[in-house]
Order: sequence, then structure tokens, then C-alpha cells
Amino acid sequence: MTDVAVIGVQWGDEGKGKIVDWLSARADVVVRFQGGHNAGHTLVIDGKVYKLSLLPSGVVREGRLGVIGSGVVVDPWALFAEIARIEDQGVHVTPASLAIAENACLILPVHSELDAMREGAATGTKIGTTKRGIGPAYEDRAGRRAIRVVDLLHTDTLAGKVENLLVHHNAIRRGLGAAEVDAAALTEKLKEIAPKIAPFVKPVWKLLDEARKAGKRILFEGAQGVLLDVDHGTYPYVTSSNTVAGQAATGSGLGPRAVGYVLGIVKAYTTRVGEGPFPTELVDAIGEKIGARGHEFGTVTGRKRRCGWFDATLVRQSLKVAGVDGVALTKLDVLDGFETLNVCVGYDIDGARFDYLPAGIDAQSRIKPVYETMEGWKGSTVGARSWAQLPAEAVKYVRRIEELIERPVALVSTSPERDDVILMKDPFEN
Ligand code: GDP
Repeated sequence: MTDVAVIGVQWGDEGKGKIVDWLSARADVVVRFQGGHNAGHTLVIDGKVYKLSLLPSGVVREGRLGVIGSGVVVDPWALFAEIARIEDQGVHVTPASLAIAENACLILPVHSELDAMREGAATGTKIGTTKRGIGPAYEDRAGRRAIRVVDLLHTDTLAGKVENLLVHHNAIRRGLGAAEVDAAALTEKLKEIAPKIAPFVKPVWKLLDEARKAGKRILFEGAQGVLLDVDHGTYPYVTSSNTVAGQAATGSGLGPRAVGYVLGIVKAYTTRVGEGPFPTELVDAIGEKIGARGHEFGTVTGRKRRCGWFDATLVRQSLKVAGVDGVALTKLDVLDGFETLNVCVGYDIDGARFDYLPAGIDAQSRIKPVYETMEGWKGSTVGARSWAQLPAEAVKYVRRIEELIERPVALVSTSPERDDVILMKDPFEN
């Protein structure tokens, strides 16, 4: 038995929700270790649908613990709005089912406002953020002026911390022509929410250490994907945190050997939301068809996703930088009925062949994908739960991908239903 981390391998939206849902049913503790309430996934438990964005999926399952690790940025108002939503569905969130790291940093209204002001400005690079203040909150963390969860428990010193933070923010706001924020008003707002969050605040590293010693199964739940990693993704069109598996340790307070098996979620084609390079993007009827069949619209934002062919070059690189042991290949059924399927096996940049994505944005913008064309399949893969239920060409497609990405496919997902998977290897049994 081993602890498992689940991470997205492309640009997010790979279908992590379904796989995390499936795995969390067998975990005792589920830990979020990066990102914020920009993540979004759906759990289906006993026919009831729960939409979560900041809460770890453990909280909706009886007897499980959900943990928000120190690597997560927490918007306390969004958190309690989400808790209220699931309490309306009959789930009671208590300190026995949710723990929040005392050293996690907060997202405040100044952060989401800054996000919106920057994206609205006429100049500069538009990243296409979700405007929830995630990026600015991480900036303040690195700038060592953030308000942390633990600060809410010490209300006597809170005002000074808020003033210090606002020296920075008000200078930017003046520059952008926005009204300054009043320190006393923000401090009051924080003091109001403090007693609500206090019962959940814990030394999470200690809690997790004890859980490990007691032989509990821990599932680390990643958000976004490797290509959005602030170090290893398509910078600057990335998120503000590390999304690779190493972050599961850093963002929860466990050592590098905390994760025994890393499951990477890979979609059978490629999608991306927002701006940035996308070598295999299809801006044609095929791209439209994939998007329509795969319902490629954001769970949180409703934004239409850009769609394209499977990029084995990019996925192979992501799997390596992220330290993935095995892959869950999702949404294979979306490719049913295509005459032929292209798989990107390398890049041509100004006549030179590349077997990886060069880091420079200029080179990235000149990439011409080199494709291998495979035969599509006529039959349906929807709901398949064994290899025998797949058309021969679909098996070939999966096997060829496995070869190209140099990692084993541990499971294949063939519909949004939790149990519609073909399982080769149980990630917990390693
Ligand atoms: P996440 O952000 O990685 O959790 O991905 P999303 O939840 O945004 O996107 C996954 C969407 O695809 C959800 O609507 C799922 O119900 C759906 N989905 C997941 N796996 C499959 C699959 O194998 N086939 C199909 N057709 N849909 C799937």
C-alpha cells in the first residue's frame, strides 16, 4: 500500500475530478497542495452531484478528512460560500472532516481586484487568469507580506500586518488609478471571519505525519496541470504555483518520499483555456467537433476551451518533469467515429526537428507539429470497462500513445461515470 498523488499532465481539465473521485472513495485523507478556488471538479456520490473548487474531495465522504495544505492560497469568504453550498446538499463540514494549514496564505479582496485591474489594462501580457486573486496572493507570499491563516488567530497584531500589506497594494492601486483600501476596514472584515475559520486551523504537517504513522491512505489532489506549472509550464501563460508532483510534498509539509505513486491524468486529445502556445491546436471543424463532443467548457469559468490533437511530445516531457509513474488516459470515447487521428510525435521549428518543447516563447510560436496519422475506429468505446470492449484501432491508439510517452497507462476512462474505467494497475497497490 502506498500514498498516491494525482496531477494533471496537460493544461488542466484532463478529467482529474472523476479519477480523484474514484480514488478518494478508497483514501482516508485527501490533501490539496497548491492552487486555490480556481480549481473545479465534480464528484458523484450515491447519485448526488457535488461541485468543489477549494475543498478537498475528502470532505464530502463520511469519515474522511480533507486537508488544505500550506501550498494552497485560501480565500476565506469563497471557502465559507462553498461550505454553505455543500451544507445545503446535506454534507456537514466539521473540524473532524476539514483541516486548514495554519501557514497557508490568504486571498483577500485586494488580490482579485488587482487581477481584474491588470487583465483590464490595455498594455502588458494577458495571461487569461480566472480573476480570483490567486496570482497576486502568491506574489504577496513570495514578497513576504501575505496575511496567513494563523494571523487570523492573533487579532491583536493583525492590524499591523494588514497595514504593511496595504503599503504595497495601495501604491499599485494609486498607479492604476484605483481607490486605496482602508486598513481598518479590511482588518475588521478579517476579524469577522476569524472565529469561523479558527476551529479548522491546524499544524497540518503534524496531522499528516500522524496519519502516515497510523497507516492511513493519503491521496494528494493536484489542480491545473504540468504545462501550467510556474517553473515547467508554458511561461508566462501559466498559473502561479507548482503543479508538478514534488509540490505534493512541499505544499503539505511532508518530505520528498511522502508520495509513493504519482498518477498523471492525460486526456486522449489536447485542450487549453486562455492564452498561450498550443502546437497541435485545431482552429477548424475538427477542433469544433472535439470541443462539442468533449463538452470542453470550463467548470468554473464557462470559458470555451481550445482543442487539438494529442501531443505526445509535450506529454512525454510533462511526465518526466513532473515525476509521473503511470497515466490515466481519459475521454477516449470523445474520439469515437473519427476517420483518422493525428498524434504529434515531434516539432519542426524553422526546419530543425525537436523532440521537446523549447522554453522560449518565440520558438514556441513557430512550431509546426510533426504528425503520425492513425486509423480511427467505427465502434463505440463509451462505457468500456475492459480491453475486450474496445475496437482494435482504439487499443492500438492507446498502445501507441503509451509507447510515445514512455510511461505505462494504468487506467483508461471511457465516460464521465465513475466506474467506467479500464483498470490495469491500482495506484494504491504498489
Ligand atoms: P478536471 O479539471 O481535470 O477535473 O477536469 P474537468 O472536470 O474540468 O473536465 C472533465 C470533464 O470531463 C467532466 O465534465 C467529466 O465528467 C468529464 N469526463 C471525465 N472523464 C471522462 C471520460 O472518460 N469521457 C467523457 N466523455 N467525459 C469525461
